[in-house]
Amino acid sequence: MDERVDDDRARGLDAAHEAALRFLDSLDDRPVWPRATLDDMLTAFGGPLPDDGCDAVDVIEEIASRADPGLVAIPGGRFYGFVIGGTHPAALAADWLVSAWDQNSGSASLTPTTVAMERVAGQWMLDLLDLPDTSSVGFVTGGQMANFTCLATARNAVLARAGWDLAERGLRGSPPLRFVVGADRHGSIDRAARFLGIGRADLTVIESDDHGRMRPDALRAALADLSGPLIVCLQAGEVHTGAFDDFTSLIPIAHEHGAWVHVDGAFGLWAAASASLRSLTAGMDLADSWATDAHKTLNVPYDCGMAIVRDPADSIAAFRTGGDYLIYTSLDPWDVTPELSRRARGVPAWAALRSLGRNGVASLMDRLHDNAVAMAEGLASIEGIDVVNEVVYTQVMFRLASDDATRDLGAAILAEGTAAVTGAEWRGRSALRCSMSSWVTTQHDIDRTLDAIRGLVAG
Ligand SMILES: *Cc1c(COP(=O)(O)O)cnc(C)c1O
Repeated sequence: MDERVDDDRARGLDAAHEAALRFLDSLDDRPVWPRATLDDMLTAFGGPLPDDGCDAVDVIEEIASRADPGLVAIPGGRFYGFVIGGTHPAALAADWLVSAWDQNSGSASLTPTTVAMERVAGQWMLDLLDLPDTSSVGFVTGGQMANFTCLATARNAVLARAGWDLAERGLRGSPPLRFVVGADRHGSIDRAARFLGIGRADLTVIESDDHGRMRPDALRAALADLSGPLIVCLQAGEVHTGAFDDFTSLIPIAHEHGAWVHVDGAFGLWAAASASLRSLTAGMDLADSWATDAHKTLNVPYDCGMAIVRDPADSIAAFRTGGDYLIYTSLDPWDVTPELSRRARGVPAWAALRSLGRNGVASLMDRLHDNAVAMAEGLASIEGIDVVNEVVYTQVMFRLASDDATRDLGAAILAEGTAAVTGAEWRGRSALRCSMSSWVTTQHDIDRTLDAIRGLVAG
């Protein structure tokens, strides 16, 4: 390598290192919500592409000087919007190595280090979550793609069982497939269905209870009227309430009818890693596939989701390009997900798991739940605030007496800057949601947040 390029690379990495630390060091004091709009940032970074290039260190310094006002303090301790984790130090550092290594991690023979690390991370996770240890684990970008990957596998498998070879014959003329979902499913389920040629008309929507859990009696009644290939989609962790479906009741009902059962557990699956939260996931291991994220509750950097399928032969049947479905001693990453070339996004998951250890993952889950309980108690003690849900996991939903007041409070919290929560609609009314998903959040963060909200509510 020529010396100038070598030097440019080292100085570029040093500049990025410094800029990264400057951002991370600012997290405790900066407003959590960005101060700049998209238009501001388009102006900052836009204009015509210059004719001449510049060296890496200048590029990084230009980025660092312009980016700051448009960055959101997601890795800090007071970002509670959506369901988004922070970044564990070992996972962040490992993620830098992933880029430096530049391993195209679709194939075991090309990139043995990263494929092995992902396979081990997958095994560790199956063990922590008490899922069948022979399952396939595909690393994808997130919960959306994990749901898509699992449901593509499910569609292929239930059609195959009905005697229909999807790879050969396509969807036209295939036996009609019913897709059975809960009323409070995540929006990514409908998107995944849409990508798979499963339309709204193919959905059977099952009523849920006041916390968004599918009603077993309603599932039983609906399945009594359905026949043919069936997929039932359940949920571990409803985004508003954090509630978990009653897997022990629901999965056997679905299996009696020959359905494939998929569990969307983008953040909820991780409850199984804690002795005190595990009961929420009871019976979940009976399902046929599970989707989860490492970039939420495990706190690895974006992007990292996992598509888990009980029988690897079903994954291979859906995704392997040619070859024998039954040979899975030589399972390649591209045999179990839609992707070919990709970054080794499982390496930061390996690093987070190694850094935390079994006990560390359990205590992280416990801490996130304790934080949610503390936040809910604090919010409930503020005059005028109602906590809407029973806090079984990491989600806290609250509101004021009127929808307008609730929405105004949401906007005021973002403008004030101490913390970020996001708005939601629940049972026809406006609410605000705190997701306690970050390893960084301390009692001090919760106290600062409550003080800020108390001040805003008092006006
Ligand atoms: C976040 C979430 C998803 C989507 O995951 P992404 O990582 O954003 O793609 C799906 N289901 C549930 C329950 C979620 O919370």
